[in-house]
Amino acid sequence: MMSIHQRRGPDQQRELIGELRAAGLAPTAQRRLVLDALHGHDHPASAIAIYQRLRADGQAVGLTTVYRTLHALADAGRVHVFHRDGELTYRHCREGPHHHLVCEVCGLVVERSGDTVTRWLQQVRADEDFVPNPQHSDLYGVCGTCLRADRRAPGDGR
Ligand SMILES: [Zn+2]
Ligand SMILES: [Zn+2]
Repeated sequence: MMSIHQRRGPDQQRELIGELRAAGLAPTAQRRLVLDALHGHDHPASAIAIYQRLRADGQAVGLTTVYRTLHALADAGRVHVFHRDGELTYRHCREGPHHHLVCEVCGLVVERSGDTVTRWLQQVRADEDFVPNPQHSDLYGVCGTCLRADRRAPGDGR
């Protein structure tokens, strides 16, 4: 596996620095590594898993730094938090409002900017005496990969 240092050029470093600054964080080398370790992963990961990912890549990043950076990025809305098996897991998401489709089998999270979910929320609002919060309207289910792996979806009988 290529190291993060080899993989990331000056452009990517600028991007990481900009993102950390926007989150109100000083863009230290360790924080850049934490943010970089989140990029490109559709499955949310726990702080420990991210820490281990960095250690496996030969990066000397402290677990406390990983926790603090994740919390700050989550507070700034640059990282979204998911509960999985009683653990908090973190996923780097794009900016702007979106919903999540969350696979309960493999943990995959797909971002949807979403006409489908938005229409559904509007429908709920029209039909019920209730205004749904779009920040908490993730859909849980089974992703196509897991379905095709012949694992049964919840509520499909039997
Ligand atoms: Zn998200
Ligand atoms: Zn899945």
